[in-house]
Amino acid sequence: MKPGKVYLIGAGPGDPGLLTIKGRDCLAQADVIIYDYLANPVLLGYAQSSAERIYVGKSCGKHSMPQEEINQLLVDKASAGLSVARLKGGDPYVFGRGGEEATILHQQQIPFEVIPGVTAGFAAAAYAGIPLTHRDITTSLALLTGHERPDRKLSSLDWQKLATGLGTLIFYMGMTNLKMISEKLIEHGRAPETPVAVIRWATLPRQQTLTGRLDQIADQVKTAGIKPPAIIIIGEVVRYREELRWYDNLPLFGKRFLLTRPYAQAAGMVALLQAQGAETICIPTIEIAEPLDWSACDQALSQLGRYTGLILTSANGVESFFNRLSYHNLDLRALAGIEIIAVGPKTARTIENHGLKPDLIPQDFRAEGVVEELISRGVTGKRYLYPRTEIARRLIPDSLSAAGAEVDDPVVYRTIAPAGKQEMIRHLLETGELDAICFSSSSTFDNLHAMFGDELQKLKKATDFFSIGPLTSQTIRKHGFEVALEPEKSTLDDLVAAMVEYYSNT
Ligand code: SAH
Repeated sequence: MKPGKVYLIGAGPGDPGLLTIKGRDCLAQADVIIYDYLANPVLLGYAQSSAERIYVGKSCGKHSMPQEEINQLLVDKASAGLSVARLKGGDPYVFGRGGEEATILHQQQIPFEVIPGVTAGFAAAAYAGIPLTHRDITTSLALLTGHERPDRKLSSLDWQKLATGLGTLIFYMGMTNLKMISEKLIEHGRAPETPVAVIRWATLPRQQTLTGRLDQIADQVKTAGIKPPAIIIIGEVVRYREELRWYDNLPLFGKRFLLTRPYAQAAGMVALLQAQGAETICIPTIEIAEPLDWSACDQALSQLGRYTGLILTSANGVESFFNRLSYHNLDLRALAGIEIIAVGPKTARTIENHGLKPDLIPQDFRAEGVVEELISRGVTGKRYLYPRTEIARRLIPDSLSAAGAEVDDPVVYRTIAPAGKQEMIRHLLETGELDAICFSSSSTFDNLHAMFGDELQKLKKATDFFSIGPLTSQTIRKHGFEVALEPEKSTLDDLVAAMVEYYSNT
């Protein structure tokens, strides 16, 4: 059989955005993904769902798979004709044993490619605000391992050269030997006051950075309890951090939030929060499902010509409605002549994505505002189609009917509680690891509450509840909980802006 191919891919240091485009494309076509401890598992999302995923890193006290076994795995999978993505933290050829893996592939005549990644040392410097070279101070840079091998003692390195012959030093895997490294450097001529930065979990929202002097840093690290994985940067350039730090100055840096909407809809919020430095965890408490019965909707679709207006109030409603339209082999022409009313900017955008322009986007996008605006324009004799979720309030159909319109309001989707999320959420609450939970609708809260009942009060401890708008807040308060924050306008941008404001005051 023709052998497959192995791609040694650098996953970058942690921030998923630091994967290269080529790395992403290789992941997307691979049959097998073999990945390490330091490769961000979020990147597996780029793989085909059918791809086999094999973790070879260490976990919960267990050691990683021995290198010989990993080598063999690469050979076996490729020999079976598969395309193998070997995803390694940072860059595959920087202290990653990528060289050993490539050598075996070469020996076995298995085709391979190497896709570089952003190495942790470079990334840690960038995210800590340290230019690794600077024409005024440093013209050279060395990458070193602080890890000792029985056959190659650290103490036998040419410390003289390292101490005086080079500018900036970046140590990988140096935490256990930091004391010895700093003592040796000082002994051989580096100034004891040379600035040092230790950066743990660089580029991730849990990044920790400690700076100090070469003669004191090992004790400081011990006191602060900073553990691997960390990068150690030694040299005068570290002084620039004070001016050039940006990442850990972001307003929501170090905060961790739970998002409760379905994955597909959480992406916008995730991006907005991460841009402010926050860590996000997505565990949906709602799932969008089809209605149990389509007949009311189908009936309406079979006589679209009757309606003068179509009221759409959510992105989910828009998607479900258009899906059903297409299910009946209908297209946009079936909506010709019907006034399209979009409630909220996101709904409007979703409609536009389907190639239609809303005729009216009421200023106030609560149901009350919509009703008021429509009634002020006159609704007598009009016929509205209002596709909705199962648990929608009655305000729109009732008020418009009372004002003389006719309204059909078929259910086009339901929100249900997904199974199997309870334990993950319980763990996060019990360990007190969450700063806040963001609720984007009443059902996201209702379902969370249903998972834990009255125990939620005790479980939540210091975790705040943030709400997207008045209705969601009402639901939260109805169950006896406090709403720590609600933006003035119910959009994600406003919610994130309110969160930034909230933490700038605390
Ligand atoms: N090939 C990788 C290095 C693997 S060696 C690369 O190019 O980055 C493992 C060491 O890398 C760790 O002990 C630590 O020193 C460093 N490291 C990797 N990711 C890191 C991160 N996000 N933050 C700090 N150090 C990291």
